[in-house]
Amino acid sequence: MFDELHEECGVFAIYGHPEASNLAYLGLYALQHRGQESAGIASSDGRIIHTHRGIGQVADLFTPEVLGGLPGEMAIGHTRYATAGDSGMLNAQPFTVNCNKGRIAVAHNGNITNAAELRRDLEREGSIFQANSDTEVILHLVARSREKTLPAALREALLQLEGAFSLVFLAEDRILVARDPHGFRPLAIGQMEMSGGRTCNVFASETCAFDLINAVYLNDVEPGEMVIVGPEGLTRERYAPVRDHAHCVFEHVYFSRPDSIVFGRPVQESREMLGRLLAREHPADADVVVPVPDSGVAAAIGYASESGIPFRHGLIRNHYVGRTFIEPSQAIRDFGVKLKLNPVRHLLEGKRVILVDDSLVRGTTSRKIVRMVRGAGAREVHMRISCPPTVSPCFYGVDTPSLGELIAANHSVEEIRRFVEADSLGYLSLGSLREAVQDDRQDYCYACYTGNYPTELINIEELMTSRDRRS
Ligand code: AMP
Repeated sequence: MFDELHEECGVFAIYGHPEASNLAYLGLYALQHRGQESAGIASSDGRIIHTHRGIGQVADLFTPEVLGGLPGEMAIGHTRYATAGDSGMLNAQPFTVNCNKGRIAVAHNGNITNAAELRRDLEREGSIFQANSDTEVILHLVARSREKTLPAALREALLQLEGAFSLVFLAEDRILVARDPHGFRPLAIGQMEMSGGRTCNVFASETCAFDLINAVYLNDVEPGEMVIVGPEGLTRERYAPVRDHAHCVFEHVYFSRPDSIVFGRPVQESREMLGRLLAREHPADADVVVPVPDSGVAAAIGYASESGIPFRHGLIRNHYVGRTFIEPSQAIRDFGVKLKLNPVRHLLEGKRVILVDDSLVRGTTSRKIVRMVRGAGAREVHMRISCPPTVSPCFYGVDTPSLGELIAANHSVEEIRRFVEADSLGYLSLGSLREAVQDDRQDYCYACYTGNYPTELINIEELMTSRDRRS
């Protein structure tokens, strides 16, 4: 529920539509939950790449006038919250460069774990960086490549990257997209019908972006695959050898929208299943199941239907909380949480409440919410979390705090229960999480719950400390 932690990015690309930038705008609008700090669109009219990016949300940044200045039949877009690099205008994407392969723009979702080393090498050899995001490294690698064509230069650059990347590139006359060989972050392919029976190609982090523009979801860019759409049509090629897949399970637990299909599986289905399995593993004698909105809603529905205990919206969320608000000069207790959530007293008073949320990270928000529910008269509060304890930071693009701040990294479940002041606390087991996302082939990454990182992190010390600096 906490936007301060809210992170990551959403990417979108479209090729072959006369209203490309308008559709990119709509696509980004549907991906806004993946990042609210900055957004941008780059379009190409076949000769010139036009870019607009800024701090703020999609609907505020892109007025009809701004979109009018983004002509052409192809566009890419990005919405962002910082994971690597500082926040701010300099790091707003898409990034563009002019190089011997022409003009290129790029937008990136994920986190490149060897970006610092690559950057040091590039700087030693004379490259100058404008921003401090890991995405700029990719453009430098492409620009410096001795390969003659853009796809070949891109292939060479991608093979040097480690970690997580779902990338969309815009060149003067084509779109290129690629996904890292482990497939950490999603990247879906869609198709849109146009007048005259023609079709155009679209790409997005999540399929909810396709729904808004009436595109159909076809399949995913495969891990280690590069897809190019240009005047000659669409080509797919594997640029990297097959590696073990490591899809981010947190996309299904929390990050993606429930109406999306992510890694080929409907998110809502996973979430309800998480709740059902949670009810089986951690039943409680109670009167109502109440979700922490919005993140706990689907799991609470699953919990309620499995347990037979009625589901109630006992906490109401204000959806219109912006980044700026006036804080009263007199301190109001738990102001931040109150701004967003308000309990429905008559649903909670005298009740034994099962409070369902998707995850518990630092524990500070959960404690405030438990207090709030109790303050509204609940007799008992049983906290249920639809994933295992978060014990390790993510280096692949989810903004988890440093190890020291992850409550489950340093405390037992009983200690956490006491900290959040709940009468009982139950986390879903890893086995059930696996079952809920139907991971029969070990295709997912569970590093935040296990500490087993699927890639070698040679610079793990550096990664840990850079995270400390950020948080
Ligand atoms: P806390 O009790 O302070 O650990 O906060 C838990 C809340 O943070 C839950 O409602 C989660 O849905 C939410 N949360 C967990 N991870 C993230 C994330 N990466 N971005 C945004 N919110 C998150």
